[in-house]
Amino acid sequence: MEGSFVIKAHLHNNSLKGKGTAVVVGASLSGLMTGIALAREGLHVTILERASEGRPGGAGLQVDGARFGQSKTEKLLRNLASQGKSTVQLWTTIESRLREEAKSTAGIELHYNTRVEEVGQDTHSAWAITDQEETVHGDILVGADGHHSMVRRFVAPHRPDATFAGYMVWMASMNEEDLPEEQRPSYHEPKVRMLDSRNGFLFGSIIDREDGTGNRRVGCTWYDNSRNDLLRHLGCVEGDVVLHSLRGKDVPEQTLTELNDQATKRWDEPFATVLRHATATRTLIGIPIKEYVPDQLIKGRVALVGDAAHVPAPITASGFNQSLIDAATLGSCVAGGLDGEAAVEALKAYEAERLKKVRRMVQSGQSYSQSFGRA
Ligand SMILES: Cc1cc2nc3c(=O)[nH]c(=O)nc-3n(C[C@H](O)[C@H](O)[C@H](O)COP(=O)(O)OP(=O)(O)OC[C@H]3O[C@@H](n4cnc5c(N)ncnc54)[C@H](O)[C@@H]3O)c2cc1C
Repeated sequence: MEGSFVIKAHLHNNSLKGKGTAVVVGASLSGLMTGIALAREGLHVTILERASEGRPGGAGLQVDGARFGQSKTEKLLRNLASQGKSTVQLWTTIESRLREEAKSTAGIELHYNTRVEEVGQDTHSAWAITDQEETVHGDILVGADGHHSMVRRFVAPHRPDATFAGYMVWMASMNEEDLPEEQRPSYHEPKVRMLDSRNGFLFGSIIDREDGTGNRRVGCTWYDNSRNDLLRHLGCVEGDVVLHSLRGKDVPEQTLTELNDQATKRWDEPFATVLRHATATRTLIGIPIKEYVPDQLIKGRVALVGDAAHVPAPITASGFNQSLIDAATLGSCVAGGLDGEAAVEALKAYEAERLKKVRRMVQSGQSYSQSFGRA
């Protein structure tokens, strides 16, 4: 158990750190941004992630550019996300830049393959208990563990779950050089296109890969409100709660055939080819859409950021963008240190600054979901 040894070692060191210590659960985009923001304020940060390092991740995200009055930390995060520009970026590009920044930032310990099974707090500290039976303490603990957050269960046990919005998106993507030559998009095409049809719509994206090849990735996000029975039948949705996404290997053959036919009839090239390729190789993924309007973002020494805190419909294109502001705001709230009651006061200031804004953000997508989603 090499992993347990590593965490034990840092547990001893934690008590030696200057302005305070934080434990962050989750090292996806929100967890990495939060870790960077807290470490820049002089905290020692331990980030615990259940997945392994460098996992693949598909989507293109619309990322907002610089905004008036941004702090130095917000500026850094925006530069890492998109060089400070409003543009579409691949999830993998953003994640790898944030991960490299976190690794090179003094005061951050990043542990992959470490699942947090329980969190708790008393008047002196908050802690996470991992699947390696280690307890990691901090002055504060931050849940950045996504839409199905375990930390949210602790913060808001009366409303622990995000709610299924009544529709899903199919996501598929392909490198442009793997498309037939005549279908490769020209460099004059817009980066994002919306294609409409009677029973749904599709966002097509053409995004720079930034992997040194100069090539792009062509992606599809297909909104579909006709598969709710399938999602329930396969256990992706239970009652009102989304349990997991639908992986390509689990999609029934009949559904793949239907998607293939519909792609050919409904969508223009190159997107129809991308979808047909994804059904043939079972690389498509189905994501049931969920929403969560929070009533609280903190409980004592424990706070939520990102999708753990608020889940907006993707049509708002604001989940990542607001997660970035969560991270930067939390950073500025802990700037005075976390000694004693200061930790609790810092989190209260974070909630006071963010709660109303993130509630409005999720609510802005709800009327769309009510009209497109099917009960
Ligand atoms: C189809 C789609 C399109 C979108 N488009 C946009 C867009 O255009 N613009 C935009 O701003 N946003 C968009 N979003 C939202 C955006 O993707 C998310 O808001 C953003 O990525 C933040 O995610 P997160 O890091 O909070 O959560 P996640 O990415 O879900 O990360 C949670 C992490 O926590 C880890 N974890 C979970 N439980 C545990 C545990 N017990 N122990 C340890 N680790 C754990 C997980 O492994 C994961 O790494 C879109 C979302 C979807 C679904």
